[in-house]
Amino acid sequence: KSVVAVVGRPNVGKSTIFNRLVGERISIVEDTPGVTRDRIYAEAEWLNTTFNIIDTGGIEQGDEPLLVKMRGQAEVAIDEADVIVFMVNGRDGITGADEEVAKLLYKSNKPVVLAVNKIDNPEMREKIYEFYSLGFGEPFPISGTHGLGLGDMLDEVVNHFPEREEVDVDDDTIRFSLIGRPNVGKSSLVNTMLGEERVIVSDIEGTTRDAIDTSFTKDDRDYIIIDTAGMRKRGKVYETTEKYSVMRALKAIERSDVVLVVLDGESGIIEQDKRIAGYAHEAGKAVVIVVNKWDAVDRDDKTMKKFEDKVRQEFQFLDYAPIVFLSAKTKKRVHTLLPSILQASENHTKRVQTNILNEVIMDALAMNPAPSLKGQKLKVFYMSQVAVSPPTFVVFVNDPDLLHFSYERFLENRIRDAFGFEGTPIKIYARRRK
Ligand code: GDP
Repeated sequence: KSVVAVVGRPNVGKSTIFNRLVGERISIVEDTPGVTRDRIYAEAEWLNTTFNIIDTGGIEQGDEPLLVKMRGQAEVAIDEADVIVFMVNGRDGITGADEEVAKLLYKSNKPVVLAVNKIDNPEMREKIYEFYSLGFGEPFPISGTHGLGLGDMLDEVVNHFPEREEVDVDDDTIRFSLIGRPNVGKSSLVNTMLGEERVIVSDIEGTTRDAIDTSFTKDDRDYIIIDTAGMRKRGKVYETTEKYSVMRALKAIERSDVVLVVLDGESGIIEQDKRIAGYAHEAGKAVVIVVNKWDAVDRDDKTMKKFEDKVRQEFQFLDYAPIVFLSAKTKKRVHTLLPSILQASENHTKRVQTNILNEVIMDALAMNPAPSLKGQKLKVFYMSQVAVSPPTFVVFVNDPDLLHFSYERFLENRIRDAFGFEGTPIKIYARRRK
């Protein structure tokens, strides 16, 4: 999906436009505990094209000087967006701050659509002409509060969307990303993995413009590490903000088959780790939990078990994810990671046979019949796997409302026991069958 960012100095009306374009369809509003409700991307649609729009306003940090904020915003837009909407205020004319933003955008080589806001009626149209001098071509008059002119502006935006060329990789290739808060050792781990014996790193392949992926081969399997660049980049103002790293992580997750949630064994688990892990889980990807820096931990024979219990307790929603303890620094156990990734990926795309599935389900029902709900009894007719990535099942019942969450959980566990879906979430939906 193409990405659009709206930039401009404060109070030109960016948030009004953002909300108008997005309507109610804000992307990250899941009701899952531990997941931030902050908006980062939201989905918008124009002429049957859906695109993501960055809430640049939300990336601004509160107490920084105006210029720093604007620079941060522009940098995000330049790095992340395919098309930038540069918004100015038609009532104020060109200000010094507008010129500063313009300077940053000149250097970007990204298409910029100039939107002159607060042109609330046709008489005010003449106010747009002075903005030609900013050097971004035709200014588009809009009114955020009245919703005027947005169509013409969006036509122009959509015109600039790049043609996406899919990179030719065969389907057995396993794409994975490493996510985690700064300094848990993601880039160290990537370097160690790529430096391992018998790993053949082929050239870095540019997939999208901003993300650099690294492909390598081990034991005749092809792997791609998604967004290797994102893990290494550092230094610009906005890159230190949590929202920025979340945005980057979400993008990487979307393109991955397997997500490695990297934790720091030395400093332990904090709230931010849980939020990041939540994103991986919600995306329905295969997940492997990696506990890095295990070399730096004072250990006895119970330390690992204790840490594992802690992980299970803090990340209950990831109960299917295997945990790998390792040290990127000493390289200890790093060789156990790829087999876990491979296994998680295979389980993520696994299909089970319908007849065997139903034998398992019927055995489960016989062993532990569904308790009655509201005086009525759940009848389970059969089950069928309807999708992979993640494995998704439909269970046909007399009344979906009678399938209690805990019983669904029981069925899920029976399926897991029988077929071994370690590393992947599975989904179960109930449908009515008369
Ligand atoms: P990133 O921000 O997640 O990419 O983390 P880095 O890879 O930049 O690592 C952050 C810091 O942790 C660096 O100083 C690394 O040297 C250190 N580090 C990374 N992996 C290990 C490890 O396995 N053991 C120890 N003791 N330190 C590590």
